[in-house]
Amino acid sequence: MSIIRFNALQETLKRTPVKVNQSEKRSTLFGRNVFNKNAMQQYLTRTAYESVMNAIEHGTRIDRKIADQVAVSMKDWAIAKGATHYTHWFQPLTGATAEKHDAFFESINGSLAMEKFDGEQLVQQEPDASSFPNGGIRNTFEARGYTAWDPTSPAFIYETTLCIPTIFVAYTGEALDNKTPLLRALHSLDIHATAVCKYFDKNSSKVNATLGWEQEFFLIDDALVLSRPDIQLTGRTLLGHSSAKGQQLDDHYFGIIPARAMSFMQELEEECMLLGIPVKTRHNEVAPNQFEIAPIFEEANLAVDHNSLLMDVMQKVAKRHNFRVLFHEKPFAGINGSGKHNNWSLSLDNGINLLSPGKTPMKNLQFLTFFINTIKAVYENEELLRASIASASNDFRLGANEAPPAIISVFIGSQLSAVLDELENVTKGKLSPQEKTDLKLNIIGKIPEILLDNTDRNRTSPFAFTGNKFEFRAVGSLANCAGPMTVLNTIVAKQLKEFKIEVDKLIETKSLKKDEAIFNVLREYIKESKQIRFEGDGYAEAWEKEAKKRGLSNNKTTPEALKVIVSKATIDLYKEMDVMSKVEIEARYEIKLEEYTKRLQIESRVLGDISRNHVVPTAIIYQNTLLENTKNLKEIFGGAYKTIAKEQIELIMTISNHITEINALVIKMTDERRKANKQTGLKSADQYCNKVKPFFDQIRYHCDKLETMVDDNLWPLTKYRELLFTK
Ligand code: ADP
Ligand code: MG
Repeated sequence: MSIIRFNALQETLKRTPVKVNQSEKRSTLFGRNVFNKNAMQQYLTRTAYESVMNAIEHGTRIDRKIADQVAVSMKDWAIAKGATHYTHWFQPLTGATAEKHDAFFESINGSLAMEKFDGEQLVQQEPDASSFPNGGIRNTFEARGYTAWDPTSPAFIYETTLCIPTIFVAYTGEALDNKTPLLRALHSLDIHATAVCKYFDKNSSKVNATLGWEQEFFLIDDALVLSRPDIQLTGRTLLGHSSAKGQQLDDHYFGIIPARAMSFMQELEEECMLLGIPVKTRHNEVAPNQFEIAPIFEEANLAVDHNSLLMDVMQKVAKRHNFRVLFHEKPFAGINGSGKHNNWSLSLDNGINLLSPGKTPMKNLQFLTFFINTIKAVYENEELLRASIASASNDFRLGANEAPPAIISVFIGSQLSAVLDELENVTKGKLSPQEKTDLKLNIIGKIPEILLDNTDRNRTSPFAFTGNKFEFRAVGSLANCAGPMTVLNTIVAKQLKEFKIEVDKLIETKSLKKDEAIFNVLREYIKESKQIRFEGDGYAEAWEKEAKKRGLSNNKTTPEALKVIVSKATIDLYKEMDVMSKVEIEARYEIKLEEYTKRLQIESRVLGDISRNHVVPTAIIYQNTLLENTKNLKEIFGGAYKTIAKEQIELIMTISNHITEINALVIKMTDERRKANKQTGLKSADQYCNKVKPFFDQIRYHCDKLETMVDDNLWPLTKYRELLFTK
């Protein structure tokens, strides 16, 4: 074993689980560091409290005087909990989170010191934001953007800083972050879903989207990560021969969580409790050293914030446990990658789940309305939904015969398929009142029982109905959920808007009764959106062919997938639903392409470096040993050495071949990279995708071959078996 690998592994052997103090019950910790309803009731005047609650529930404005009051109370609360700084916490378009800390402490006249924080500081800030990506919205010389308080996501304290969730917008009003479009989409959804809910209950006043994410990740000892420049710089391994034992025994899934990982999880969960992130489940995943953590679902905006926060907290806690969390979708070739299932549903403000069938036929009609409209929305916008999860790293999962394919389809299970088929076929033409009653009793009435024992699970579907929610499974583990959630909620809002128009029209022009009109429209939707429903194996080649026949998109790469974002249809859709303007869309498109290009550029450089500066020199050292050995054999055995040293001679030749190949390929790749760097936007991304990236696997192939030949004592890069099975 090489000295680098040896030292790294020695480091890991020294580790013992970090002791986590678990003195208190989780439930008493929950939300302790959050300025939540309880804290607000304690610290705010009644008027201020009501004003904030109104803003949360009905989106009303909080006036300046009240904001001042809230700020002072929030500050008092935070200082009482040991906070010294505050920050506007936001999600710029880098996908990460951003914060700039300011102290509460201020000096007045250079002497008197006091803690200060007023409404102005709470409500609005101007971070020097010139280095956040803006896709051309702001030129750097007019770099002003501002962050504005989002009262629907409560402030929290993390590491002595009061963090105030905010949106981030340009002075001209364009969104520069992930949260603003999401809030607009959720608002639009609320309007149109509530309008549809009024068919079933006149008193419906608000609909929330709910999100429960499941975060998958790998946990690798940080000493091992430091020994691998590829993991360190790109979050994944760019080379490495597969381990003799991988995940084939399935002995990791739901297995006993190793002690060190367990103590990491315990501390993480405790941090989550304090921050009000309701994490509930943790378990081993399919691949070795792969895990999952999932919370109880929440209102979508809050859930998105909580996921972003969790990802930050995870890295920090991991550091204390000498781990590195890999959020990359595909850190290791040949074993499972990681996703972030987005479980999504709609709920009324009284908590009733609109995607859960009820006890009465009317409630089930409501269920069917939202169920079928969602399917229709996905059908009409499958390509946009695919674009929402496109990234350089997620490309390694989608379309790579692993996690859900790049083709979007909806799985609903055999029983619900039967219900929809029956609804579609039971009436040729319009429903008569008699048929309607039969339908209700025979079909609709059965739904609750059907779903109770609905154990159908199709793990290969990118978008599956799982009893009382849809599970968008194709989202990548590294992604910010805001992107896919913005698209999903926008398309469902738009679909519900159309639905209402069509139903109202039938009621008015054909004098149909309300539920009859609803049935008629739904029946047409079932027919129209049938092509998106797929119950079979999503990984199979047959599905690709079938999907093509059905006219579904199959965009396997990010540059290809992103194109639809700037199509006229998308621009019109976002404009109509008040989610994003053309400028905002184009900016995001540009940023996404640039991010893709940069990631591939970094990977290509790192791969060039590792293969030529680590792999090739090591192979040469080993080859020299073989040459020396052969020479010695010749000296002793004379002409007979050719037979005696046959293996060595062959190996010398093979090593030479691989070295030659690697060098030639790296030169070619660098050449293509240069060409790509001269381009911009889509052209550059395309060039990286089609001309640079194909070299990755080719170069890797030769490096991995060398790994199997070269003396283990010399090999400098920590091997797959060490990365995956060191616990
Ligand atoms: P799995 O998919 O791994 O079998 P579950 O089905 O139990 O796990 O739940 C997965 C996630 O779905 C959890 O995070 C849970 O909070 C979430 N979830 C459950 N109900 C809803 C809902 N109505 N809306 C959104 N998410 C939900
Ligand atoms: Mg799941």
